[in-house]
Amino acid sequence: MSVSTIAVAGGGIAGLTAALLLSRAGFRVEVFERADRLSEVGAGLQISPNAGRILDNLGLGPALDAVATRPEAIEMRGVQSGRAIIALPLARAAIRYGAPYRLLHRADLLDILLSAVAADPQIAVHLGSPVSNISETAAGLRFAAGDISRDADILIGADGVRSSVRAHLRGGPAEPTGRTAWRTTIPTAAAPDGIARDRVTVFLGDRSHVVVYPIRSGREINVVAIVEEAWQGEGWSEPGDAAFIRQRFCGTADDLEDLIAAGSDWTRWCLCGVDANGPWQNGRIALIGDACHAMLPFLAQGAAMAIEDAAVLTRMLLRPDLPAEIALARYVAERRPRAARVAQAARQSGAIYHMSPLAAPFRDATMKALGGDRLLARYDWIYGWRQNG
Ligand SMILES: Cc1cc2nc3c(=O)[nH]c(=O)nc-3n(C[C@H](O)[C@H](O)[C@H](O)COP(=O)(O)OP(=O)(O)OC[C@H]3O[C@@H](n4cnc5c(N)ncnc54)[C@H](O)[C@@H]3O)c2cc1C
Repeated sequence: MSVSTIAVAGGGIAGLTAALLLSRAGFRVEVFERADRLSEVGAGLQISPNAGRILDNLGLGPALDAVATRPEAIEMRGVQSGRAIIALPLARAAIRYGAPYRLLHRADLLDILLSAVAADPQIAVHLGSPVSNISETAAGLRFAAGDISRDADILIGADGVRSSVRAHLRGGPAEPTGRTAWRTTIPTAAAPDGIARDRVTVFLGDRSHVVVYPIRSGREINVVAIVEEAWQGEGWSEPGDAAFIRQRFCGTADDLEDLIAAGSDWTRWCLCGVDANGPWQNGRIALIGDACHAMLPFLAQGAAMAIEDAAVLTRMLLRPDLPAEIALARYVAERRPRAARVAQAARQSGAIYHMSPLAAPFRDATMKALGGDRLLARYDWIYGWRQNG
C-alpha cells in the first residue's frame, strides 16, 4: 500500500518528534491533539544522548543548546547525611556517545519542537481534536477528531499513558505503581549554596528519592521528589500540598530540607505504568511513547524511548519493500524488547534508590567499590543506542 497521509494522535514529545521525522522522510502528517493549546508542566527533562542524537539529526541541536545545561555528572547523595556516595561522569558524554546529555525545561523542548513543526508545510496540527471511534475502511482508516470525521492511511497513537488508541487495540488501562512524583522549579538564586549547579544530584532515601538539576541555562533548579504513596490522581499538574512534602523530608540533610522548603508551586503526579508487552499495533495502527510503554522515571528514559520509537517507526515506513502493515509490525519487533528492557532496568533502579536504612550502607559501599566510570559503563547500552540499518 502506498502511504500518503499519516495521522498522529497526540501532540506531546512523541507525537511532535514523529511528525517531524515522518515529514522529513517525505510523508504528509496531520497531528490531532486533544488539548486546545499545547503546553507542558513546569518541570525539567533529562535528554540523554540516545535521544539527543535524533533531535540533533533533525537540526534542533543549536536550539536545544541555547536553553539546556550539560551536566558534569550524575551524583548520588544520601537523603539523611547529604554525603556524596558516587558520581557518574558525564562531561565527556558528547564524545563517548555521539551527543551531549542535556537538561532542560519541558516547555522549552515543546516550544522547539512546535517551532520546527510550524515551519514545516508538510505538517498540519489540529488542536481541540481528541481522536476516537477508530475504524478500518476499504481505503484506509477513519476516525473522529473532535466533531469531525477524518481519513488516513496510517494512525500513530502518541496519546500518552491513558491512550485512547491503545484502548482501541484492546490494551489494558495504565496501572498505578504506588509512587507519586512531586515537582517544582525554583529560581537558582533561591536554592541553598550546597545544591550543585553543574550536575544532576540524586538524593537516595528510604522509600523515596529526590532528583535536582539546573534548567533554563542554569537560571532555575528543577526538583522532583518521588515518594511511595497510594494516591491516584489523573492530571499532570494537580497541585500538591507543600506542607505534606516538607513534612515528608523534614529532618533530612540541611541542603535538601532547605531546598524542599524553598519550593512553593508543587504539582503531584501519580506514576503509572503501561506494560510494554501489551498491544502496540494492529494493521495500519501503531503506538509510540507512553501509550505503549509508560515507565517509572528512575532512569529518565520515558521521553527518550518515545523519541527512539519515532525514529525506528520512520525508518521502517521508508522501506520500499515493506507494505505499511509489515513495516509497522517490524517497528514493534525492533522496539518492544528494548522498551521492555529499559522499563525493567528502571524498576530495578527504583528498588536500589529506595532501599531501607538497613540495606542502604551495603548499596553505598557497592557503588563506591565499583566507581563512577564503571557505573556509567553499565548504562552504555542505553546512552550509546544507535538505529540498526
Ligand atoms: C516525574 C517524571 C519525570 C520524568 N523525567 C524524564 C526525563 O528526565 N527524561 C525522559 O526521557 N523522560 C522522563 N519522563 C517520562 C516522560 O515525561 C514521558 O515518557 C513523555 O512525556 C511521554 O511523552 P508522550 O508524548 O508519549 O506522552 P504525553 O507527553 O503524555 O503526550 C500525549 C499527548 O496526547 C494528547 N492526547 C491524549 N489523548 C488524546 C486523544 N484521544 N486524541 C488526541 N490527543 C490526545 C495529550 O493531551 C498529550 O498532549 C518523566 C516522567 C515523569 C512522570
